[in-house]
Amino acid sequence: MDKKELIESFLAYSPHLDPAMIDKAWEYSQKAHANQARASGEHYFVHCSAVAESLVEWKMDLPTICAGLLHDVIEDTPITDETLRMEFGEEITKLVLGLTKLDTLQFDSRDEAQAENWRKMLLATAQDIRVIVVKLADRLHNMKTLNFLNRERQRRIAHETMSLYAPLAHRLGMFQLKGQLDDLSFMYLFPKEYEELGRKVNAQQAQRETTLAKFKEQVEKALANTNIPHRILARAKSLYSIYHKMLRQEKPFEQIQDALGVRIITDTVANCYALLGIVHTQFRPVAGTFTDYISIPKMNLYRSLHTTVMGPGGELVEIQIRTEEMHRTSEYGIAAHWRYKLGEHSKDAHLEEKLNWLRQWIEWLQDLKSPREFLDSLKTDLELTQVFVFTPAGEVKALPSGSTPLDFAFAVHTEIGHSCVGAQVNNKMVKLDYKLKSGDICKILTRKGSTPKKDWLTFVRTARARSKIRRYLREKGIVA
Ligand code: MN
Repeated sequence: MDKKELIESFLAYSPHLDPAMIDKAWEYSQKAHANQARASGEHYFVHCSAVAESLVEWKMDLPTICAGLLHDVIEDTPITDETLRMEFGEEITKLVLGLTKLDTLQFDSRDEAQAENWRKMLLATAQDIRVIVVKLADRLHNMKTLNFLNRERQRRIAHETMSLYAPLAHRLGMFQLKGQLDDLSFMYLFPKEYEELGRKVNAQQAQRETTLAKFKEQVEKALANTNIPHRILARAKSLYSIYHKMLRQEKPFEQIQDALGVRIITDTVANCYALLGIVHTQFRPVAGTFTDYISIPKMNLYRSLHTTVMGPGGELVEIQIRTEEMHRTSEYGIAAHWRYKLGEHSKDAHLEEKLNWLRQWIEWLQDLKSPREFLDSLKTDLELTQVFVFTPAGEVKALPSGSTPLDFAFAVHTEIGHSCVGAQVNNKMVKLDYKLKSGDICKILTRKGSTPKKDWLTFVRTARARSKIRRYLREKGIVA
């Protein structure tokens, strides 16, 4: 996107604002970074404009876009905050300084204390979430250009993205971004699995399209005599979410009941329920799958009706029913939500721009009792389903949540599992039933000739460990 396109896209959602500052920030940043190159060999400014482009796509306000253009100026060029303040004023400078500060904090998964730093960082910046939004745009572009870095940095950055930034995007309701960050991280952390899964998913594509076409046809027929506006979309699932499911259920791709995802979008809440009725009349719902996130929205303001039905050929179809407004919110997060809300209810279009969606956003954040709670909820989301644990050599193993050092030992090697006599996590001795957390470094202590114990079966979490232990005990006649 060049400068003109960027400004045009901005004006498309802020028609009454003067974009002169964006113009100025563009020129200023381009000049400041003139002699710098990215690892890719491109001009450094390509990165700054890409960040601004994402921010416009997410419909951020003017100071945020300027901050996106200028975000690396203080850190990477001789320009000082004094100069920046003179040129761009207090608000933009504060945002850039916030970002510069963030960059000095490096989340290092090998250091427990860093989680605490992260909390502090959030605490310090929660007053202005826009800093985090620019950081997310920055991270997205860095992930897209990660192939130019060496293997070790790729892994470190990808791990950080997956454990901290993707959940953060999720928390902010930026689902599209979350999917992008997850898949990019997945590609670098588990390249083989990524590639293989991508191939398998592609191979199923034709069949999915046929199912979708049949589903659509049947719904359209049922709707023929109503005047409920609707559009039906296939929902692209991130590869990582499928992989996640495989890990969670400990099943190969072929055995995963990976349902076709469909979205039905309509105009009003009443019509969402009407559509739900029609879908449930046409297709048999799967018991226990219906969730009403319209009556009870998620904490990140996500709203939709969820249900799973038996599709036209007996296959499962996961359906989300929502209004256009809910759809926008779920794609772009809270910023889009407020903008739309204001636009809908105020006849005065200027008011929309004067009112600051950010203020609302902060209020929403403050509803959570403390940043601690915010971080805890981030971590809970992560740890509910999967933990990433490191070998002392820095290799990462993904295990289902609740896994123990024994699960880890068997994930590394059967022999190590068999002869395990103890474990250290982050240099401290732990019991073998210790529940591993993301970022733990686990060292397995072994003794030659030591063998699996029967009581291990009572606390191991993974099918792999369980079956290895059982097989050994059976061979020795210890269990039937
Ligand atoms: Mn940057």
